[in-house]
Amino acid sequence: MFTGHPGTVVTGPKPRGQQGVPVAPGPRTVSTVCTYCAVGCGMVLTVDADPATGGDRVHRCRGDKAHPANFGRLCTKGATTADLLATGGRMTAAQLRPAPR
Ligand code: SF4
Repeated sequence: MFTGHPGTVVTGPKPRGQQGVPVAPGPRTVSTVCTYCAVGCGMVLTVDADPATGGDRVHRCRGDKAHPANFGRLCTKGATTADLLATGGRMTAAQLRPAPR
């Protein structure tokens, strides 16, 4: 588990529906762009609730067939985005560095 760097504050994920974005019940899709490399392939993520935390969980990633950069195709790195996001030890919230005094 990532515990953060010294001098930082780690906050946990907010419960589902309290992150400023209205949440519809059940799985939903989110169109986004792969940020792994400069190609910027379009991808569609299927997101649902993580029963362990109540937060969001990406459980499927596929290429966006309407995106002009990749027309639905993804390389291995992009196609395994859901696995990457599900890997343990990742930060789940932004860290705040206390202001210097
Ligand atoms: S899917 Fe592959 S080629 Fe496309 S942006 Fe991601 S890493 Fe780059």
